[in-house]
Amino acid sequence: MKHICKLAVLLLMAVGCLMIPLSGCSRQGVYTTSYFDTFDTVLTVTLAAPGHETASAWSADIHDIAADLHKQFSVYEDFPETVNLKTVNDSAGKDNPITVSEDIMALLSLGRSIYEKSGGKVNIMLGAVLRQWHEAREDGDRLPNEETLKNALTSHAFMDSLVMNEALGTVYLSDPASSLDVGAIAKGYVLEKIRLYANEQGISSMLVNFGGQVMAIGRHPDGDPWTVAIRDPRDGSVLDTVAVENAVVTTSADDQRAYTVDGKAYHHIIYPETGYPSSLHRSVTVILPLSFTLESDGLSTALFLSDQDEIPEMLKEYDGASALWMNADGTVQTYHWPH
Ligand code: AMP
Ligand code: MG
Repeated sequence: MKHICKLAVLLLMAVGCLMIPLSGCSRQGVYTTSYFDTFDTVLTVTLAAPGHETASAWSADIHDIAADLHKQFSVYEDFPETVNLKTVNDSAGKDNPITVSEDIMALLSLGRSIYEKSGGKVNIMLGAVLRQWHEAREDGDRLPNEETLKNALTSHAFMDSLVMNEALGTVYLSDPASSLDVGAIAKGYVLEKIRLYANEQGISSMLVNFGGQVMAIGRHPDGDPWTVAIRDPRDGSVLDTVAVENAVVTTSADDQRAYTVDGKAYHHIIYPETGYPSSLHRSVTVILPLSFTLESDGLSTALFLSDQDEIPEMLKEYDGASALWMNADGTVQTYHWPH
């Protein structure tokens, strides 16, 4: 029963912002709040607190962290008095270094590091390619123009076009047709900031579900590890459940932001050598110790773009990592490092 209650928390979907004390189902003092207004996804915070007021304050602060980073990292929207990634993209080619926040600088450095670690598979300079997929998906019934897509891929997706001056805190894109897209890495950055906040506040038992990326701090207050459900990308059912504590569980999957053209499904994770959705796996979940929270998001995207022989190699830098992935034929494999 306890497990069913905790699973229910994870699968909870509600409308608007909710704060639900789970006293009927678990111990008193466990509160769940969901927010629907950042990063185009749901942020659900479940935490143990001494009372409703503390729980509200902590949850509100966590939401503020996500909301602030949402504004800074947006490539689609302008916000008053905010220099964000759209500002950087809009100034591409103007040879005009833009002073950006520490968060933006740190996120772009993370992007560079994941580019290197993944051998270029995760490339935050793929914006010109990803934008075409985004627009085609919004239209819903077409694919990007093949020639335009290839041109963006071969001529306007170079990491070298991202010019960063860390000492001055400035950034610009030297190629006018290039742009940034941080969709593969941004949620890990947000979770890391939430983790640091939880440390500061002494929050010892918390589960944050941010668009399918789950960060589990401590254990459930009843003393058991948290139970996290992994979705089957084929039908949305539960493929597996994992019991975790002090870990981050991150999934990249082909059923997210997917659409169908002429009976064929196209999803949002693009193989950088072809410019088309990768067909290596249906989904990849990686479970990492909390110390790797920052990199967790980029790593799951990198693993999604890696074949099964490359996955163990990639995990070697992440002691204590486990990966579970579904291949294109529906078979499921797991790997733990150290092996
Ligand atoms: P995730 O769900 O974390 O695996 O990230 C998927 C998102 O990353 C997509 O929606 C795109 O915004 C972006 N993306 C897709 N393919 C790539 C790629 N090869 N390199 C960098 N970002 C990508
Ligand atoms: Mg990712």
